[in-house]
Amino acid sequence: MITREECEALDAADPLAAFRKEFALPEGVVYLDGNSLGALPARTPGRVRQVVEEEWGRELIRSWNEAGWFEQPYRLGRRIAPLIGAGPAEVVVCDTTSVNLFKVLTAALRLRPGRRTVLGDGAAFPTDLYIAEGVTGLFEGARSVLVAPEELDRHLDGDVAVVVLSHVDYRTGELLDMPGITARVQAAGALMIWDVCHSAGALPVALGASGADFAVGCTYKYLNGGPGSPAFLYVAERHLAAGPEQPLSGWFGHARPFAFEPGYDPKAGIGRFLTSSPSLLGQAALESSLDVWERADLVAVRAKSLALTDLFIALTEGLDGIEVATPREHARRGSQVALRHADGYPVVQALIARGVIGDFRAPDLMRFGFTPLYLSYTEVWDAAQQLAEVLESGEWREERFSRRGEVT
Ligand SMILES: *Cc1c(COP(=O)(O)O)cnc(C)c1O
Repeated sequence: MITREECEALDAADPLAAFRKEFALPEGVVYLDGNSLGALPARTPGRVRQVVEEEWGRELIRSWNEAGWFEQPYRLGRRIAPLIGAGPAEVVVCDTTSVNLFKVLTAALRLRPGRRTVLGDGAAFPTDLYIAEGVTGLFEGARSVLVAPEELDRHLDGDVAVVVLSHVDYRTGELLDMPGITARVQAAGALMIWDVCHSAGALPVALGASGADFAVGCTYKYLNGGPGSPAFLYVAERHLAAGPEQPLSGWFGHARPFAFEPGYDPKAGIGRFLTSSPSLLGQAALESSLDVWERADLVAVRAKSLALTDLFIALTEGLDGIEVATPREHARRGSQVALRHADGYPVVQALIARGVIGDFRAPDLMRFGFTPLYLSYTEVWDAAQQLAEVLESGEWREERFSRRGEVT
């Protein structure tokens, strides 16, 4: 088994090691929950303070033009585009993942009149399923059907308008074959929407090369945009050219928002997917985190992510009561490791008490996210060691570790 000294040698040779100082992490914590809420970039408090004190406090409303507030959703979209394999005019930052899914799913259904089925994965992050229910409820005769991704092909009949899938499963960390699935869905005459919440910033994503029609994703996980930071949406250029219609037709999607005309006339291009004033403080935090991402090589990020997850799997797979739920094949793995344990909840709480922060997803999954920009091999080794000690000592049985907070 690999030793701690060998991990120290891997850290010394790590091409991404210099990124660690870009993050403000507390002492004594091994943070394995960047797949849920990314860490704080060291530069973010200064940038947010500047926007609050200078752009808002001193320049006041002049900042809409002078600080580029009005352009910010597009500017951030152009900066996210290379991280997800999109063109600069195909991405915009706004609202939340759920709201953006509502917009693109409705637009997609309208592009397939006569077809009435939306296929989704029954094990998907539930908000995506709830939104699909909400959208299909607005279309006469439409329905949302849940299938397992490996059963998808059997369900691709002439009634399927749209398929919505997560690129990486939020529980198991399984990575789906984006180009292969997209091609099969489109061959059946349907449109493909990808949710890249768990892959943006975790691995190179190739929306354009995969032929994806639409995508949505959040920025507070691997992209480190901060709690509640705004989401993004992607629409393939070929659809934008045809003027897709989204239902949340607010003034920021209007061709001339400051003409204050009574009728809606959508912008050309991705701007028609905007609805409201951007949340500029959240966008400022995201902007500063993208300054860090701009210098990160996603190929190196992916290589280290696979090495870290390989290491953690190797160190934990033999532990008592543990079963690895994440696929072993690199081509099927995102950037997290999920371990099944019958008492996963108190085990995670006991680990957190030791400074190793992961999280838990019902019924029995302990999730550990691996973020190559700020995690070292040694920390991963230490985290596995702490888990072994928690299991061996049985300390997780203490009653305090079974009390549940509102957020797990
Ligand atoms: C985190 C996540 C979301 C979050 O949705 P919000 O509306 O931004 O809160 C949605 N879908 C998936 C797959 C996620 O992982």
